[in-house]
Amino acid sequence: MDHKLSDKGPQTKAIHAGESPAQQNKASAPPICMSSTFIVDEPVSFSANNLQPDSPMIYTRWGNPTITQLEAKLAVLENAESCVAFSSGMAASSSILLGLLSKGDHVVISNTNYPGTAEVARNTLPRFGIEATPVDTTSLDDIQAALQPHTKMIWVETPSNPLLRITDIAAVAEMARSQGAILVVDSTFATPMATRPLDLGADLVMHSLTKYMGGHGDALGGAVAGRQELIGPLRGEGVIHYGGAISPFNAWLIMRGMATLPLRMRAHQENALKVAQYLENRPRVIRVRYPGLPSHPQHELARRQMKNFSGMISFVTDQPHQDAARMMKELAVIHYAVSLGHHRSLIYLMETDDLIASSYRLQGQALEEYKAVAGAGIFRLSVGLEDADDLIGDLGRVLG
Ligand code: PLP
Repeated sequence: MDHKLSDKGPQTKAIHAGESPAQQNKASAPPICMSSTFIVDEPVSFSANNLQPDSPMIYTRWGNPTITQLEAKLAVLENAESCVAFSSGMAASSSILLGLLSKGDHVVISNTNYPGTAEVARNTLPRFGIEATPVDTTSLDDIQAALQPHTKMIWVETPSNPLLRITDIAAVAEMARSQGAILVVDSTFATPMATRPLDLGADLVMHSLTKYMGGHGDALGGAVAGRQELIGPLRGEGVIHYGGAISPFNAWLIMRGMATLPLRMRAHQENALKVAQYLENRPRVIRVRYPGLPSHPQHELARRQMKNFSGMISFVTDQPHQDAARMMKELAVIHYAVSLGHHRSLIYLMETDDLIASSYRLQGQALEEYKAVAGAGIFRLSVGLEDADDLIGDLGRVLG
């Protein structure tokens, strides 16, 4: 944590944290350091095992001044001791799962979450002798029932992709502590403007920086924040050994986006609420999920845990495939595209059969519950920063 900023407000922190003006020419905007290697004037170990937080820069996969500034900014926003940036959110997720778990360990993980993470948990981890139990993490009883003596990690995504389920972080952190496991929270949909998982007791918070943090849809990135005792090994494994280092150029773009995060998140929330209320009143829209709507099944928890309801809406229509086909042709403002958290609005139909077959593999009651909410497919709408009336006009053309 940058102590000069500890008493400052979130907007001041988002703008100034981590940034240091150029020493040579006093440029106010931080310069990009596009160098893969650094001249050293003392012998430095070649091993990642000997890397210390204050080791000199030697090679960008170990560390780079621009990347360090991005990491420091996120550490301040998440109130974290330390932070490590990655080339993408998936590089961050797979580094946590593969870097911190070992053969014989067990992880309890959200049963509907970002498909990439779901697939690593279900397909990759078992190949290394690591067992994963997917559960509905909105149910504390289900998490408790899934815990085993060798459970070393609980992984929750809140709000989750695509159902926007909310998990009670403080309650799960308590369970993780009693179990001697670490709690990891994928907070990509929430951002630190809504929720600071570490303050609620989580051990690690991870982000796809590609989404709200960068905010402009032009750079992939990921990050994990938490105690240095966990972040140090993650840097050694995930960044230095697996090679998931972010480009300094992307780090710079994302850092520039993060400076306006508090303002953007307020505008995302304001727009999303208007669009969600509009969708709730369309006769052909069967169901709308937005944490800021009283109709969200966990609205009370969302109010308690989220200072901002973010810009993500899920909704189901009476003819999802036809609507998706029309959206691809007829939307004038909203882009029919994956990803989220950008200034441009994005919409995509997440088809149930595809998700169940390839990513989630839900069975029994869990499958019934998913289908009850998502039907044949759920539209994931990332409400951007355009004028809400224009977004409503665009959706209205397709939804009638
Ligand atoms: N976590 C969540 C919640 C996501 O939505 C995504 C991407 O969509 C990721 C992780 C992966 O991030 P990236 O695309 O930056 O690898």
